[in-house]
Amino acid sequence: MSFAIPMPDPTVLPVAGGDLFPVRRVLCVARNYAAHAREMGQDPDREPPFFFSKPADAVSIAPSIPYPPATEDLHHEVEMVVALGRGGAAIDPDNALEHVFGYTVGLDLTRRDIQAEAKKNGRPWDMAKGFDFSAPCGILRRASEIGHPSKGRISLDINGERRQVGDLSEMIWSVSEMIGHLSRLVTLAPGDLIFTGTPEGVGPIRRGDQLHAVVEGVAEMKVAVV
Ligand code: MN
Repeated sequence: MSFAIPMPDPTVLPVAGGDLFPVRRVLCVARNYAAHAREMGQDPDREPPFFFSKPADAVSIAPSIPYPPATEDLHHEVEMVVALGRGGAAIDPDNALEHVFGYTVGLDLTRRDIQAEAKKNGRPWDMAKGFDFSAPCGILRRASEIGHPSKGRISLDINGERRQVGDLSEMIWSVSEMIGHLSRLVTLAPGDLIFTGTPEGVGPIRRGDQLHAVVEGVAEMKVAVV
């Protein structure tokens, strides 16, 4: 039997050292740094985490991406990204890091105007979060090489100016805890990416901006918005 239409190309992330990592799902945690929760008008108390997702083909490794349609308020959210090498359901947080293949840096790009409208009307976030090129990512680093980072600076510069800065140690929910929670909502599998939340300082991107995202000791990424 042949495919009725051409098989879509798989989304892949390059791995430092040469291999390719196939992306299955992109899962994201919201409000995982207290100072960002506060800037979004939320109480950062430790309520259970909540999640949203982006389609796998929103991931981009291109050096430039187009400014998306249907927004005049595209926002940057710099985040550490976890890549799973093993899956499972109801994963014990104590063993969760064994499921991690590696880490990189990513941008959870957000059409903030569409998100604000969705929040106001109790509508889904999909079109605010899951648009084309909404998840630029850097090169993956293997956990076997760099370990499991739980501290270190995370930052975003635009046109050479610092816009966001925080430290991984400020995460409300750890990577282990996120894997534990997520795997009780859906069965996780190799190829899943988890965006781990953004520190404070989110703000607008303009056409022509050059973004430089860094997770210290993990990865960095440069991307232009054209
Ligand atoms: Mn985010």
